[in-house]
Amino acid sequence: MKQKDLLYTGKAKSVYHTDTKGKLIVEFRDDITAFDGGKKDVLKNKGSYNAGVSAFFFEHLEKNGVKTHFFSMLDPYHMIVRKLEMIPLEVIVRNIAAGSIVRNYPFKEGTPLNPPVIVIDYKDDAHHDPMLNDEIILALKLVTPAELKKIKKVALEVNRLLYALLSSQGITLVDFKIEFGRQGKTIYLGDEISMDSMRLWDKKSGESLDKDVYRFEKGDVMAVYNQVAQRITRPVKKQ
Ligand code: C5P
Repeated sequence: MKQKDLLYTGKAKSVYHTDTKGKLIVEFRDDITAFDGGKKDVLKNKGSYNAGVSAFFFEHLEKNGVKTHFFSMLDPYHMIVRKLEMIPLEVIVRNIAAGSIVRNYPFKEGTPLNPPVIVIDYKDDAHHDPMLNDEIILALKLVTPAELKKIKKVALEVNRLLYALLSSQGITLVDFKIEFGRQGKTIYLGDEISMDSMRLWDKKSGESLDKDVYRFEKGDVMAVYNQVAQRITRPVKKQ
């Protein structure tokens, strides 16, 4: 498969057309940003760690009945995916209070959220990704009521599957953000699921194993990303 012209470039990934109908190539770049692009760096190998972890999660989810855009890896930085019409929603699932929910509401960091809390933000830099509610989502005609129901159901299923997988590796899945797209009437999980888009805490030490290490300068980001990629993608021990 040949990479063709650039379709879209974001803060850490670029998406290219290909010579194959219905398929795109996602390049995971070594760029890392935080705080709405206010903090940026280029960290060698970062793209390959995030691509590898994303591919691993997508394969695990597919095996368990979740439809994702993932086809295969072309090389450690490039993923072949299904071309989707992306839905501009950031669907966040939270198992433990941390990050913006602690800043914006009277939750104490570390409080378990059971059942998990779904928060949906509008993916719109100009408005700084405001939080939506179901009525606003439907009034903006971003999805149909049936699609919204499906998206929430899949988000909770992704949470259930990844929570269990990570737990078996000694990692607590605190929260994560996913994005969806459609091909025809079918909704697929798109984008990425990586250390950039999840909050992960080591079960034993409580230490951050995700982009919070970069955001809040908690240590050597690349050492942590490398460690997490090794830990997550090694074969899960049989219980
Ligand atoms: O910042 P906040 O606490 O709302 O983030 C919740 C989760 O969603 C975190 O894991 C964060 O990394 C992820 N997120 C993201 N992209 C955004 C906003 C949040 O991946 N634009």
